[in-house]
Amino acid sequence: MEDTASGLVYECVRCGAKVSTGELELRGGEIKCIVCGYRVLRKIRPPIVKRIKAI
Ligand SMILES: [Zn+2]
Repeated sequence: MEDTASGLVYECVRCGAKVSTGELELRGGEIKCIVCGYRVLRKIRPPIVKRIKAI
């Protein structure tokens, strides 16, 4: 299932920088590394922080 929520994160395959969709939108909406400018980014899952208190 594709999740197009704003929490999506891309990782540059060249320099490994992590770029969120929010940052891409700020820079014109292009899928492009904000660090090195490389255009091949892979979609990764944003870290899901689950804090379940086992009390
Ligand atoms: Zn890069």
